[in-house]
Amino acid sequence: MEYETIREKIMNLLLENKGRFYSVEEIIRVLGLEIMPREVYVHLEHIAKTIRRRSAGRLVLVMKPPMCLKCGYVFKDLKKPRKPSRCPRCHSQWISDPEFAVIEK
Ligand SMILES: [Zn+2]
Repeated sequence: MEYETIREKIMNLLLENKGRFYSVEEIIRVLGLEIMPREVYVHLEHIAKTIRRRSAGRLVLVMKPPMCLKCGYVFKDLKKPRKPSRCPRCHSQWISDPEFAVIEK
């Protein structure tokens, strides 16, 4: 069996299930990974670049942005994929997880 890095495992999961959105917690659970969510976010940043390059822009990793579940504020302008801890509008900490999927352009 070929050795796959964690990054490849995450990328293959997303590539094999195009159009399906996964939260970071879900990725960890489905793949049985023993790593922290913040490490998965770092992998996802690199995976986004790799997928775009390898597919010549045909496939992209998209993020459904996190949202405040109290007031509905959507975190549209995140520079990096992450889960914010607090809503800037109402200060609630009840925030949905961002979700990621590979889609065809
Ligand atoms: Zn809010």
